[in-house]
Amino acid sequence: MSDSISRESLISNSTNKSNIGKYIVVVLFPLFVVWVFSAKIMRNNLWATDDFIFINDIHIDYLYDPHAPSSTLCRNSTNHSYTKKYARYGCDSSLFLYESMLKYIKSSLRKPFMIVFGGDSISYWNFLNSSQLQNHFRWVMDSLGQLYSNTPVIPVLGNNEFIPNYGNYESDRDNFRNIAGSLSNILSNDELSTFNIGGYYFRDFKERNLRIIVLNSIAMIKDRNYNVSITDPHGQLEWFEKQCENGSNLGLNIGVVMHIPTGVTFWQGPKVWHSRFSDKFNSIVSKYEISFILSAHSHTDLLLPVFNNNNSWSHISLVSPSLSPSHNNNPGFRLYKMKNGKIIDYTQYIADISRVNQEIKWEIEYSFRSAYQVDDLAFPNIGKAINMLKAKRHEMFKYLQRVMAGVPNDDSYFYCLLSANNQTEYSKCQSMMYRSFNDVY
Ligand SMILES: [Zn+2]
Repeated sequence: MSDSISRESLISNSTNKSNIGKYIVVVLFPLFVVWVFSAKIMRNNLWATDDFIFINDIHIDYLYDPHAPSSTLCRNSTNHSYTKKYARYGCDSSLFLYESMLKYIKSSLRKPFMIVFGGDSISYWNFLNSSQLQNHFRWVMDSLGQLYSNTPVIPVLGNNEFIPNYGNYESDRDNFRNIAGSLSNILSNDELSTFNIGGYYFRDFKERNLRIIVLNSIAMIKDRNYNVSITDPHGQLEWFEKQCENGSNLGLNIGVVMHIPTGVTFWQGPKVWHSRFSDKFNSIVSKYEISFILSAHSHTDLLLPVFNNNNSWSHISLVSPSLSPSHNNNPGFRLYKMKNGKIIDYTQYIADISRVNQEIKWEIEYSFRSAYQVDDLAFPNIGKAINMLKAKRHEMFKYLQRVMAGVPNDDSYFYCLLSANNQTEYSKCQSMMYRSFNDVY
């Protein structure tokens, strides 16, 4: 009996074992393969999401000195004992700051379908010659291109890609050719052919139902040895209209990216679009269904209406904050989320550099949809957001904080009120904060 039981049990055990074996082969092994494969996909980012990254105004400063105060643009060390390895308000970006952003993007964000570089790669004060600038721009393009496998980089010309800064019509072709020399692996021959003529091109993402039109807005600014005989610099506006029409006929959503937006971006200063050109631009974007207009240059987070001839909005540009904290903003960049060729949301990432000697830490500042309580970023909904800011003062306060990517006014004063018990402690706190935060003033 015991023998038979034990034999049966042996048989049954061996049957169980072979069932377990089958189970492992039939169920677990495929699951294991799926797990390994998806881990590989995640690691190598084989499949792109519907997101794209927008980075602008990185303004890398090769002369950045972590010991130098912003009164010297962070160039000349004095006997300050404090350091700012990554970034300091009032100064352009250190290489460490740029690399910290790349590292964060690579480790935290899933593969985007494109990375837009919105222009201004070098510090205002680096005065590179043309071959140095070409090499620098190539290095920036390579560093962005290496973040993910096969994610295209879409470069936009900023004013600092011109020599001299903002350029002039006489030397434009030389400047276009110089930067084009760094883009042979980035742009197609067709794209390079228009880039060489005027610094503009377009790229179709047919599977995403999207046409990206990259404009050279630097050619449009007001104080650029303006000559009345130039009605359309480098034939750009005529070309722009043609690409809008052609893209619309193909049923593509049109997205426009450029460095300097139309409208008022600074408190003062003549480096804005000449009204003759912005009127034409505005009439083109009111004629065609434009999905979005994205721009850079102000270093701040702005919603900028594009006005048509009747003084009503024909569209609204979205302006991203810069990586460079030179305008006393926090470093930032954006991740745009798309669906069917339209932007449905964006997330703004920032690194708060206001505190003393801290390590850099990238974090989400806000997302558009929840901040402005709208469903997506269709033009009427951005209009709703603007109307909300104009109507509700407390919403305007929140917006004012976002404008400088999370740098509030009088931060050090209020920080010290919260930190000090008496006037001596307050003064001590203020002097620490001024070192870190306010030495620009
Ligand atoms: Zn700029």
